[in-house]
Amino acid sequence: MTERIFNFGAGPAVLPEPVLEEAQRNLFVLPGAGMSILEISHRSKTFEEILEGAVADIRRLASVPPNYRILFLGGGASLQFSMVPMNLLAADRSADYVVTGAWSKKAVKEAKKVGGVSIAATTESEGFARIPEQSELTLDPGAAYVHFTTNNTIYGTEWAKEPDAGTVPLVADASSDVFSRPIDMGKYALLYAGAQKNLGPAGVTLVILREDLLARSPKTLPTMLDYNTHAESNSLYNTPPVFAIYMVRLIVQWMLAEGGLEAIGRRNAEKAKILYDALDSSGGFYRPHAKPGSRSNMNVAFRLPTEDLEKEFLAGAGKEGFSGLKGHRSVGGIRASIYNAFPKKGVEALVGYMKEFARTKG
Ligand code: PMP
Repeated sequence: MTERIFNFGAGPAVLPEPVLEEAQRNLFVLPGAGMSILEISHRSKTFEEILEGAVADIRRLASVPPNYRILFLGGGASLQFSMVPMNLLAADRSADYVVTGAWSKKAVKEAKKVGGVSIAATTESEGFARIPEQSELTLDPGAAYVHFTTNNTIYGTEWAKEPDAGTVPLVADASSDVFSRPIDMGKYALLYAGAQKNLGPAGVTLVILREDLLARSPKTLPTMLDYNTHAESNSLYNTPPVFAIYMVRLIVQWMLAEGGLEAIGRRNAEKAKILYDALDSSGGFYRPHAKPGSRSNMNVAFRLPTEDLEKEFLAGAGKEGFSGLKGHRSVGGIRASIYNAFPKKGVEALVGYMKEFARTKG
């Protein structure tokens, strides 16, 4: 099979076609370099320009203020669950964590190994079907930081607006909705995201952090786990994931060419609305997992009346050329991930299939 199908996978996920085509064209010889991006030294002038270009383009795309550093690290978002507390949370201090899903819980687990953790709010008893209101958060004005997960990939919930942490540094795991809409970076002290949903292929993690936080890292940290190491060496302390960073650069250039975060945000909202409207108008045949007000524009999770119907739905979807629709095992049902690069016509095709399925099986 050489034809591309509609990839609703939660990550690694669909990438923009023009970017894949450019990477393919340049894979054998990167223009001017005389060799492939897969072969060049991370110390070469060519790669330095790619890396610097990626940082500059991200700064432009998200209007990242000058007092923030933009780093490319290894270890996935999961390593940030550890690096954040190791760098920012001293053993005698406490951090506030808002728990809105399985990834927030994993972040809490790692932070507890380093220092104190206070759960500012959790919606676990409600199956993580919603995002807490600001008034439900118990925030400690003396906390080392407040950590939250901007979009809950598994449950299909997303913060409509970031929590207000007051003067306490706000730290975000933005792995599954990074750069999917405009963002006010000035409200964040640190934001991290594994690349493999909206930013690129797997293998690189974006970390954007405010410079003043660098002073917090204990001197005893292992070199590779200290943000200062990567900030001082501009993400070139050791060999970085060269190809993944090259892809991130192309994708950020694509986002800029598409009109930036305003335009991308509008398009994402439009795509998600098509899908949620179909769920809401199905007379209860399709039931969204997320409560209204907490719905994600990236991951749309829903159930059908029975598990047998869900199996049948997935089997039929496969035949239509839709891939990656099986919900996470902890929620079950269906999950359609419709990240930045997912085309509107794929959403429309899915809705067409859903309507027909409900009409014949409902
Ligand atoms: N946080 C969120 C919100 C995620 O969706 C994921 C991965 N799906 C992770 C963290 C873990 O990312 P990684 O696999 O890059 O460690």
